[in-house]
Amino acid sequence: MIHTIYKEGECHMQKFGFIGLGIMGSAIAKNLVNAGFEVTVWNRSPEKNKGLADLGAKMAETPQAVIESCPVTFTMLADPAAAREVCFGKYGVLDGISPGKGYVDMSTVDPETSQMIGGAVTAMGGRFLEAPVSGSRKPAEEGTLVILAAGDRTLFDEAMPGLERMGKKILYLGETGNGAKMKLVVNMVMGGMMAIFCEGLALGGKVGLDTADILDVIDSGAMANPMFKLKGGLIREGNFATAFPLKHMQKDLRLAVGLGDQASQPLFSAAAANEAFKNAKGLGFGDEDFSAIFKAIAKPD
Ligand code: NAP
Repeated sequence: MIHTIYKEGECHMQKFGFIGLGIMGSAIAKNLVNAGFEVTVWNRSPEKNKGLADLGAKMAETPQAVIESCPVTFTMLADPAAAREVCFGKYGVLDGISPGKGYVDMSTVDPETSQMIGGAVTAMGGRFLEAPVSGSRKPAEEGTLVILAAGDRTLFDEAMPGLERMGKKILYLGETGNGAKMKLVVNMVMGGMMAIFCEGLALGGKVGLDTADILDVIDSGAMANPMFKLKGGLIREGNFATAFPLKHMQKDLRLAVGLGDQASQPLFSAAAANEAFKNAKGLGFGDEDFSAIFKAIAKPD
């Protein structure tokens, strides 16, 4: 299917830029290409461009070149440092922004980073939307993410044909920063749940219970949820193939704890979960799935 926009009688295929082709970015960009959009991509490590090039995406040499060639560009980067580097660095996003350009940052960052980037983009006449996502590799591949957008409403509307290919639920949360806050709150809950879940499995194992039985009991009651069901089965198999890198979960908990500091909101459990994920990262599990925290918790005596 070809996506078109109509402007003063002219007909154009809708173009999108996409910067950052990691686990999430590559899956989302592929959906855009497969949906018929003309997509131009850039990734820091160029070898990750190949899969997109094979599907028909155009390659750009720099983030600046992506922005210059597309009215609306999406970004999906690791963390606040990466988001700032790609925006403010040489041949970066800001070097390509001109009046009216749309920049949609889907990375999970803190509200201040999002506001700093949004402020710089709008100061140059561009439009900014933050749009972090809830959902992992599979929802990204299937286009069933939950998108937590906030910022420029005109850009939200203009990006909607692309957003609709990425998500099953697309929220507009108001001013820039609200999307980041929502994402951090939700992932803080997820990180805390994973930490206590793995402690339960580890304790059960140490006292002689069968993991399959523990999972069955949890799944039969009010605590049943898709994450425990999916990750519990994989943990039992010893399968920690990366869907959501552990290092990113720790980053999200760190940012959530920081948000708690700013809001004077005590976060006892989130702070403890952050330490548990930090420990797991220090033990070398950062690039594995966030469920690999189990390996740090359930160490043999
Ligand atoms: P990822 O696979 O680690 O990809 C990270 C991307 O950021 C890569 O394209 C990487 O480029 C790029 N990057 C890192 N540092 C950079 C820098 N200094 N300059 C330029 N590019 C840089 O991570 P992901 O899982 O796709 O996650 C991306 C974002 O989505 C994160 O904020 C994460 O918290 C969030 N998120 C992830 C999931 C999930 O389940 N995976 C779910 C929801 C939200 P290289 O290829 O060169 O390293």
